[in-house]
Amino acid sequence: MTSPTQGKNTARTYLGSNRDSNRQHNLSTVLQLVHSTAGVSRAQLTRTTGLNRSTIGALVSELSQLGLVVESDIDQAQQHGRPSRMIEPSPATLALSVNPDVDVVSVALVSLGGRIVNAVRFHTVRAPSVIEVVNIVSAVYTGMRTALPPGHRVVGVGLAVPGLVEPGGGKVIEAPHLGWRDEPLPALLSDALQLKTVSANDAVVGAIAQAAFGAGQDVPDLVYLYGGASGIGGGIMSGGHLLRGATGFAGQLGHTHVRTNGAACTCGSRGCLEAEVTREALIEAIGLPAGETENLEEILMEKLMDGSDADGVRSVIQRQVELLAVGLKTVISLVNPSVVVLGGFLRILVRAAPGALDEALHGSGTRGPWDNVRIELAPLGDDPILIGAAELVFEPLLSDPAGFLQTPADE
Ligand SMILES: [Zn+2]
Repeated sequence: MTSPTQGKNTARTYLGSNRDSNRQHNLSTVLQLVHSTAGVSRAQLTRTTGLNRSTIGALVSELSQLGLVVESDIDQAQQHGRPSRMIEPSPATLALSVNPDVDVVSVALVSLGGRIVNAVRFHTVRAPSVIEVVNIVSAVYTGMRTALPPGHRVVGVGLAVPGLVEPGGGKVIEAPHLGWRDEPLPALLSDALQLKTVSANDAVVGAIAQAAFGAGQDVPDLVYLYGGASGIGGGIMSGGHLLRGATGFAGQLGHTHVRTNGAACTCGSRGCLEAEVTREALIEAIGLPAGETENLEEILMEKLMDGSDADGVRSVIQRQVELLAVGLKTVISLVNPSVVVLGGFLRILVRAAPGALDEALHGSGTRGPWDNVRIELAPLGDDPILIGAAELVFEPLLSDPAGFLQTPADE
């Protein structure tokens, strides 16, 4: 039995520290709050950090001089007491996010606060080589940079790869769907763009975005599962920390076994989740020509609504949902999350067959940790991945704002 107060703080704890020696900690705390809320009042900063008004004023002023926050209009939500100015992330500090996949290279400028300010999806007829990715990104970035207003700066590149990335992000060890092995793409991008490049697996950065801004905000135990053209990846937050594993591949649920003697997988095994539950199967079911898959979700939902061939599409979806539930039960049993977020084409399965995933998880009358799990859908498209890739760049900036910016600007 657990007591009703277990796990709750009995005394109020504040995020800030009133000692001068902790200025870096306080700058970081205030910037983190402004970044994660995409805007917060001075009064709220004072309440959350436990710092006094004048200390908050000095910290905001310093962050403002560093070009990291801007003060804007009065907080309209403030019902009582004195009106309070809003502190927002500066739109002038940006990261360049890059996400190559089998049929598209996505490039985006993302500002502090996790806002995509400009995104280009460059479609390719086949999986791009590493050199092609560097050339595409260089050309797109040159155009984007030219369009930036004066005073804006890009502080680094976040690269999200559909594959295994060396811990620390220095090298792509393997991206099977792109045919890459031991590719120094982060270093090549750094050289080409003259910007520091940080890299991680695409589903892992999706999980980071969910934890920072999405359904995972304030959820310490979360599983994020993303289905893309390159298969199914995932990220696991446990106790508020991202599980990385010995080689950074923890949470890669695509190779969870879901069917005996199932379809052959790129890993050499059979019956893996990503071999059985595929975006291709949905595209085939609705007969969508290659190259017209951008709006797959809308097209599939329309197809189900208008009724023509809907039964065939439904049976494909039903089968995929059942196999997805097998994989989900495994991971839910292992890590006991409170929320599972589904992104990419996996969210289509839930939308196209409402209730089917719940039925597959609970329908047999079994009892387990999956009983109380909330299933959430990630926003449409690859936005979470682009926002998460920017988080890779912003993380050291958020930890030590002044120290990070002392390194020479890359613009
Ligand atoms: Zn596999």
